[in-house]
Amino acid sequence: MQRIEHIYIDGEFVTPHGLEWFDLYNPSTEEVIGQVRLGDEHDAQRAIAAAKAALPAWSRTTREERLAALRRMHQAIATRQDALMEAIVKEYGAPVTRGRWMATYPADVIAQAIETLESFEFEEHVGIARVILTPVGVAGLITPWNSNAGFICNKLAAALAAGCTAVIKPSEMSALQTQIVIEALHEAGLPKGVFNIVNGRGDVVGEAIARHPDVAKISFTGSSAVGQHLVATGAATMKRVTLELGGKSPTIVLDDADFASIMPLVLNAGFMNSGQACIAGTRILVPRSRLAQFERAVKDALSQFKSGDPRDPETAIGPMVSAKQWERVQNYIRIGIDEGATVLAGGEGRPDGLQAGWFVKPTIFTNATNQMRIAREEIFGPVLTVIAYEDEADAIAIANDTRYGLNAIVLGRDVERCERVARQIDSGRVLINTLAHEPRAPFGGFKLSGLGREMGRWGMTAYLEPKALLKA
Ligand code: NAD
Repeated sequence: MQRIEHIYIDGEFVTPHGLEWFDLYNPSTEEVIGQVRLGDEHDAQRAIAAAKAALPAWSRTTREERLAALRRMHQAIATRQDALMEAIVKEYGAPVTRGRWMATYPADVIAQAIETLESFEFEEHVGIARVILTPVGVAGLITPWNSNAGFICNKLAAALAAGCTAVIKPSEMSALQTQIVIEALHEAGLPKGVFNIVNGRGDVVGEAIARHPDVAKISFTGSSAVGQHLVATGAATMKRVTLELGGKSPTIVLDDADFASIMPLVLNAGFMNSGQACIAGTRILVPRSRLAQFERAVKDALSQFKSGDPRDPETAIGPMVSAKQWERVQNYIRIGIDEGATVLAGGEGRPDGLQAGWFVKPTIFTNATNQMRIAREEIFGPVLTVIAYEDEADAIAIANDTRYGLNAIVLGRDVERCERVARQIDSGRVLINTLAHEPRAPFGGFKLSGLGREMGRWGMTAYLEPKALLKA
């Protein structure tokens, strides 16, 4: 059993002032596999003070100095892909195919930040003014459990590239990944205090960061409820905020779609990351005239999506991350049934043959309306809702009738028509006949899905304040 007893402040592994030990679980077996000692408010304050002290020097570093530091970070993280992979499967339960992507992503996002910094314009002329983009200050970075190492590296690389220093509050449930990232970043030899990492509870360490006047910016990935809370809390010190929050993304199947060819994409979009993905396509909008045909096709295709042991290469869907998350998903399945939707496949309980582990049956509801809770609320598990629409205008209206707007998928044979539909969807990203990812493009959401954007030059700009300089 692994015991993680240090946090990282001012370039050193230190024992937290906080005394609480938090259990880490293997969600495939429900066994405790480790313990992490959590920091408290006092630790958060020490970390913020270290980041504040490191800010003047780091904010004045040249592009070349920052690039050199980011390249060392990239190298150190890239050599730990196997260890990250093991931690991701063990503490999160990602199926190996997904886990492999998640283990390479942390190094990839640092490489993206390097590419962005290489060509980033920090100054431009506007009329008689010179506009200088200056680092906003100390950044508080808060990450969720569903891709902890990747989010730490993405946020930190963008913040450092912009000239900010950082205090990171990772997900307390993903301490094995965090530990690997800390060791790699320590090895990268960045100046003391430039980044600090404090394991801790959200309502203790996260809250201390969100309230502290010396933190100028919060970049948060997590639930919409906590995101809203952070905006309200940050208002007192006028914090800049970037929020990557939840979703209830539509997959719009147009009436000319070839069901056989789109079905893997429909299900991969819905079940990605075992359904625990902010961008998962969980509302599947299908033309009413072809509903019965779609139901048959989706049921057939579902037999290819095995839920079970994440180490089995055949597995598409691993366990839910925690008992709480498993209960939450089970509850939503009951809610869907109570609301009168039809269970086309799956349902309550574990998949056949599995006695332990927080595994869920991949579940598809049909005969659902967009007003049902299973169509409106983020379930964060492998539970999809098929909703029939009458015509293209109705499909667009249903797609947009949501509190969220993170991702959408449009599927059809006529690509021009797909694009016409895509342009009418209120969403930070719309994918047409693909699940491709473009890391240079901005990522973020409309409405309750977030505020601001990450990735590429948009992501870096979020850590900068424009200053207009005018001379006589
Ligand atoms: P969460 O909001 O419960 O927790 C996220 C982080 O916030 C954790 O580190 C937690 O400790 C911390 N936190 C909790 N309360 C806090 C508080 N009062 N102050 C400061 N920090 C606090 O989310 P989660 O359950 O870890 O992650 C799942 C959610 O994240 C889903 O809603 C999902 O859609 C969202 N998500 C969004 C994206 C995106 O890019 N848009 C990506 C991944 C996950």
